[in-house]
Amino acid sequence: MHEFDTHTTFRSHAPGYWPAEAMEQWHDHRWQLRNRIDSLADLEAKLVLSDEERAGVLLAGTKLAMAITPHFFNLIDRENPDCPIRRQVIPRIEEGWNAPEEMADPCGEDHHMPVPGLVHRYPDRVLFLVTDRCASYCRYCTRSRVVSGVGEQQLETHWEAAFRYLETHTEIRDVLLSGGDPLLFSDAKLDRILSRLRSIPHLQFLRIGSRIPIFLPQRITPELCDMLKKHHPLFISIHTNHPRELTLEVRDALARLADAGIPLGNQSVMLRGINDSVEVQKALVHKLLMCRVKPYYIYQCDLIHGSSHLRTPVASGIEIIEGLRGHTTGYAIPQFVIDGPGGGGKIPLNPNYVIDSSPSHVTLRNFEGNLFEYPNPSPIQPDDLLSLRHRALAKAR
Ligand code: SF4
Repeated sequence: MHEFDTHTTFRSHAPGYWPAEAMEQWHDHRWQLRNRIDSLADLEAKLVLSDEERAGVLLAGTKLAMAITPHFFNLIDRENPDCPIRRQVIPRIEEGWNAPEEMADPCGEDHHMPVPGLVHRYPDRVLFLVTDRCASYCRYCTRSRVVSGVGEQQLETHWEAAFRYLETHTEIRDVLLSGGDPLLFSDAKLDRILSRLRSIPHLQFLRIGSRIPIFLPQRITPELCDMLKKHHPLFISIHTNHPRELTLEVRDALARLADAGIPLGNQSVMLRGINDSVEVQKALVHKLLMCRVKPYYIYQCDLIHGSSHLRTPVASGIEIIEGLRGHTTGYAIPQFVIDGPGGGGKIPLNPNYVIDSSPSHVTLRNFEGNLFEYPNPSPIQPDDLLSLRHRALAKAR
């Protein structure tokens, strides 16, 4: 099979690298969590590491923990040291080096927290950091200062103060639950949080940001979906970076969410050597649509400490949008954004399609490079209006 076929085809990943008991328990999300690969010994028992990876794993214990679900680990191509799955979750020594432009809190979230755990940066919506734990840890995580619990800071969520803030700030209409990964909570706990939010009349719209459907699709149980659908309108943003992440198990988990009436969007992060090509991004967005997920954002990787080996030039993201717009379905095209360093919020970036602009017209370029002039509206002349009036009067007689 050609490598590209693994991008475009949904494949199931049988538990080939685990003991016999895994065959029986593979679909139990609790088993998956209990059996995460989270130590050097665990990892070396299953994979030959490079020196750079071994050093990276040893350093990760003081920065961002390593943990990989068996499901996601099984997607690693052991023959390929540059496997795009491997590079997202296995630490490397480069993580230990902070480039001068990098920060611990690149989106300036800590300065926009009126209550610990609640980020209020945009006028009508908030980010609610409800947990610091994830099913697996992404090596470029923008919140690695708190996520996984071994970094520089601890996440403190002041629950009651956060709910009171939301109750008294009637301008807030949209709450995004994130962290960490809220879908790691039990159904009952998540239900309590969503119910409390739903008891606040001015909150119109709830969102959950989660990578669980990708790292741990077994967690998307019918019971979870039944609970979530009580809280509509509820949207979920998933996080997928490479088409190989979209396996049959993931596709089925996403179908369960979609069947529960939950609109799904995907956020991916531009990562060097992982998804920084038009070919990979096009395969990703096509597979997402087949999973009923709208490709929503491609993020320029935030300036998080230790990420320079994974970050790409800004031009790569613009080239990818250029390679998608006009070349595939409009629904498949995400918005490329940079989160303004230090707290600027999302800033959209696009290829330049406006070549020239004047009061009378704009000159535009289409996806094939052809030029078109689009005229601005012409003012109606008084003489023309007068003659129209005369004609209307004549008809009335
Ligand atoms: S799932 Fe999200 S919050 Fe968790 S480590 Fe990955 S990027 Fe960070």
